[in-house]
Amino acid sequence: MSKTYIPVSLRKFVSDRAQNCCEYCLIPAMFVLASHQVDHTIAEKHGGETVEENLALACSLCNQAKGSDIASIDSETDDVVRLYNPRKNNWVEHFQIEIESGVIFPLTAIGRVTIKLLKINRESSLPSRQILAQAGMLTIKHSA
Ligand SMILES: [Zn+2]
Repeated sequence: MSKTYIPVSLRKFVSDRAQNCCEYCLIPAMFVLASHQVDHTIAEKHGGETVEENLALACSLCNQAKGSDIASIDSETDDVVRLYNPRKNNWVEHFQIEIESGVIFPLTAIGRVTIKLLKINRESSLPSRQILAQAGMLTIKHSA
């Protein structure tokens, strides 16, 4: 969530880099009504800058749920764990998608807190993600 003006060219770069898919829940922009948004992976209030290395494409629901948060409490350990950062972490190291259901499972504490805080397995996203997963059409990045 950002009030900072993001130049059109930078916005396009971020969208293209993400292949127009949410970098958290993987939903493609064409599958949701509200436009995908440019997310500051580290929010500006924590010193995050409006530069390529600190921006990610997020669907409006992930972006809204994330807000300016950068960490959460892991329910399994009670530890404060930072959120998944698409610019620093590989998606496949922290998450796994079950093709049959479209549900995303955590592989790490980072995956766990991110799925919970961003509500990544929200009901509204599952049918689309299930169809896309089964068609092999989800864009899953293997490197940050
Ligand atoms: Zn999303």
